[in-house]
Amino acid sequence: MLKDEKAVVVFSGGQDSTTCLYWAIQQFREVETVTFMYGQRHSLEIECAKSISKELGIKNTVLDMSLLGQLTENALTRSDIDIAQEEGSLPNTFVDGRNHLFLSFAAVMAKQVGARHLVTGVCETDFSGYPDCRDTFVKSLNVTLNLAMDYQFVIHTPLMWLDKAQTWQLADDLNAFDFVRERTLTCYNGVIGDGCGECPACKLRKAGLDRYLSARAEGVRL
Ligand SMILES: [Zn+2]
Repeated sequence: MLKDEKAVVVFSGGQDSTTCLYWAIQQFREVETVTFMYGQRHSLEIECAKSISKELGIKNTVLDMSLLGQLTENALTRSDIDIAQEEGSLPNTFVDGRNHLFLSFAAVMAKQVGARHLVTGVCETDFSGYPDCRDTFVKSLNVTLNLAMDYQFVIHTPLMWLDKAQTWQLADDLNAFDFVRERTLTCYNGVIGDGCGECPACKLRKAGLDRYLSARAEGVRL
């Protein structure tokens, strides 16, 4: 059924969204990716998203969301400090509702290109305190988008209930393990693949990878 339809994947070029992209390619007749560009993001991330899409033969659209820079706490309250992300630190410019905004823009684009399926790598299992990554929010937004645009969107969240180790397992199930491991960018220091090994994103990714690899070595499903 889904094989006849088209999907848009919200795509950052990271481990999670690349796993979602492989999942979508297997599920749908046609897939496109949409990548959001905004102030604090390494331009390397955009390049990574573009090159992965190209390599997999997928059309990628980059949407400029740099207006988010005007809504960060720092930009609103402190005009005297640089909003750029410091090397190796978590972004201090998080915008409330960012995922909500991204999914809504992705939906507008999806309808334009004739896709009613949206795929996002949000995850409730380690949602890091972002309420708009939770399952109940995504379901609520799905209803809202359908009403807003009079269109039958279906938002897919293949990673919603997986932990990091299970996400590696899914990539492996999709025959994408090596690609995801070698080509995706998770590291805050902009090091593709296994990363710098020092930043919080690398540590989280490695912990999941190690747990998956030891389970795989023992033949255990997570
Ligand atoms: Zn790193």
